[in-house]
Amino acid sequence: MKEHTFSIIKPDAMKARQAGEILSRLEKAGFEVVALRLRRLTPAEAEGFYYVHRERPFFRSLCDFMSSGPCITMVLESENAIARLREIMGATDPAKAAPGTIRGDLASSIEANCIHGSDAPETARFEIAYFFPGIELVRSER
Ligand code: GDP
Repeated sequence: MKEHTFSIIKPDAMKARQAGEILSRLEKAGFEVVALRLRRLTPAEAEGFYYVHRERPFFRSLCDFMSSGPCITMVLESENAIARLREIMGATDPAKAAPGTIRGDLASSIEANCIHGSDAPETARFEIAYFFPGIELVRSER
């Protein structure tokens, strides 16, 4: 079943000029980019996005990092997009991510780990609406 997921190319990857490499990997893996925006998150936007992590010790640092520079927010489409993106991203900690995954190959730390991907259908729905309010996503026929 074709599905939508939400992704962010994080500020560390933007700074390292890895956005093209990451988009290329996503396209080669069969994802269609169905919405995309370059933006810089405010601290409040980062806090709202990562609200589920508000009690974690790294919450402040994570929100500062996510608002430290530009990022690319995207909606991606493919068969089983949510699970497939998580596979291609690799584990949260790049030291534990398999070679060949985006984080395994490109990321530098457990926080500065290049890419975000929704972890479940409800999360994807919330995250798409959070960053692309009111968007009407037409399933791609390409
Ligand atoms: P994800 O779904 O793989 O992105 O991982 P989580 O939902 O558990 O965490 C969200 C984000 O918080 C991660 O992608 C990292 O950027 C950051 N993060 C997770 N764990 C840690 C940690 O132990 N320390 C720090 N500094 N950041 C973390």
